[in-house]
Amino acid sequence: MQSYDFLKSVLDTITEHIVVIDSRGDILFVNNRRCVFGEKNSCVINEKWIGINYLKQCDSASNMGDDYGTQAAIGIRSVISGEEEQFYFEYPCHSQDDKRWFMMRVTPFTEKGVNCFVISHQNITERKLAEEEVLNLSRIDGLTDIPNRRYFNEFLQNEWNRCRRLNIPISLAMVDLDYFKLLNDTYGHQTGDDCLRALGTVLKKFGKRPNDLVARYGGEEFALIYGGVSLTQAKTLIAPLLEEVRLLNIPNKKSKILPILTASIGLSTMYPNKDNKESELIKHADDLLYTAKEKGRNQIMFANG
Ligand code: GH3
Ligand code: MG
Ligand code: MG
Repeated sequence: MQSYDFLKSVLDTITEHIVVIDSRGDILFVNNRRCVFGEKNSCVINEKWIGINYLKQCDSASNMGDDYGTQAAIGIRSVISGEEEQFYFEYPCHSQDDKRWFMMRVTPFTEKGVNCFVISHQNITERKLAEEEVLNLSRIDGLTDIPNRRYFNEFLQNEWNRCRRLNIPISLAMVDLDYFKLLNDTYGHQTGDDCLRALGTVLKKFGKRPNDLVARYGGEEFALIYGGVSLTQAKTLIAPLLEEVRLLNIPNKKSKILPILTASIGLSTMYPNKDNKESELIKHADDLLYTAKEKGRNQIMFANG
């Protein structure tokens, strides 16, 4: 058990990827798991690792714009210089087919006066996927299966900041069902819930791109965010929505406009800058929604904010 072969077998069998470097970053040892991974993923560090400098690999990744390469290089150097006792970080490493995450750890040891550094990588995909799932659940409205108010706020803030940096517009539509209280009173709360679910399904079609979001803002009110979209473009995108709601043909016989479920929309567009805030966009869209209601419901009001 004291033998080199025994210890090497242990290192080759554990699921972690192990690389040992010296204080210059030259690779002294790579375990079998790391070699196999390198082969399968066409990495520079594969079974032919002799003569490769780990730090230089991180630096060249960093030079090509890989932030994780930059972070890894900084972390490894901080342990080599003795500034940090150890270094730890988590990073995504997605393949074409799968999402993958790894955790990297750097710990030092000294052998016969030579400073060595163990860099181990562990696959933490299972935990990351579970965390993503929990995060997604906390962002989805249980009744309608679309994003909730909490995620709306988070998304709007991110998108607002992105549009401000790029000096592009952002559009927000507030959608409110007409005479929904009457629908509840006439057909029961259960039927009301079914309507909200049906609305969720319809609305999903209106937010397909990465900078779009459709959310349940509260009660029978929904919100659509379109990042980087002008008022004219947003109008075109939203135009079919009122018709789609009517086409659901959900009875609301006591409604004062049509005997079916309808909706009203307020649509506002703004160019984020240092003097305005996303709350003004919400307020403006809400004001337009109020006007749509006053003008007789079942219609859209729009304006630049
Ligand atoms: P308006 O056209 O002016 O918007 O009239 P309205 O009746 O739609 O508006 P009001 O704000 O008076 O009523 C909203 C109703 O939405 C009252 C509330 O019971 C109902 N509502 C809110 N959330 C839910 C829900 O989760 N399920 C059901 N079934 N009803 C809900
Ligand atoms: Mg309403
Ligand atoms: Mg309402």
